[in-house]
Amino acid sequence: MSGNLNGRVALVTGASRGIGYFTALELAKMGAHVIACARTVGGLEDLDDAIKAVGGSATLVPFDLGDMAAIDSLGGAIFERWGKLDILVANAGVLGTISPIGHVEAKTFEKVMNVNVTATWRLIRSVDPLMQKSDQGRALLLTSSLAHKCKPFWAPYSASKAAVEALARTWAYESERLPLKIISVDPGATRTAMRAQAYPGEDPDTLPHPHDVAKVIAGLTGADMTETGKLYIVREKRFADYKLP
Ligand code: NAP
Repeated sequence: MSGNLNGRVALVTGASRGIGYFTALELAKMGAHVIACARTVGGLEDLDDAIKAVGGSATLVPFDLGDMAAIDSLGGAIFERWGKLDILVANAGVLGTISPIGHVEAKTFEKVMNVNVTATWRLIRSVDPLMQKSDQGRALLLTSSLAHKCKPFWAPYSASKAAVEALARTWAYESERLPLKIISVDPGATRTAMRAQAYPGEDPDTLPHPHDVAKVIAGLTGADMTETGKLYIVREKRFADYKLP
């Protein structure tokens, strides 16, 4: 492989399908070794085949992000093998149900918060020391416009993505003196299983393919991405500033 990510190690969660799958493939095309996580072994194996077909390399790590001890172990395993982590794409997420806030079942709310928020924090905790060892660390946390829009019936997902952005910003401000850059990324409406679950009547052909969205996301992991603590909006191809305290 030849690309500007040669020698870089990248961890992508939710790599079995959708945006995560194609982002992992793009990173591998750019020369990074990809550590690909998700529960669905078949999806990870398809990704591995696709990465090998373009001359790249991957390590598959099938596990459930609800398993917090496994997230802790992952950081240790990456340290043992590579001693550092250059790129994190914290992409895995779940939608939960779309219903009035008072009708959301407790187990649904807890699952959304567990996968989208608690697992993301636990992952940050697990890999932060490894990313500090990189001379060019780049962490991208996938968010949604729902973090800000707060449309009716989207409470668990909206609340979880607002929390993800708070994690990203806090981590970024704590890392300001390091080469490590940390941003939230809003991919926008994309032709994936999650989008189809949210909008079952929508014609998927009207939406951008995850391959095209992934190219933009992967392009945010190199040395030329020097922003931190910001939100990148893929659809608008621009960074949005938060109001700083
Ligand atoms: P997707 O097609 O549903 O894929 C979600 C990924 O997350 C899958 O690889 C899934 O893998 C993984 N995942 C879910 N639960 C998991 C768990 N418990 N443990 C491990 N992995 C788990 O979703 P997507 O549309 O590509 O979304 C990717 C990210 O973009 C999400 O954070 C989403 O919120 C955000 N986003 C998407 C859109 C959109 O329009 N698609 C818009 C805005 C934001 P397994 O099922 O194999 O575990």
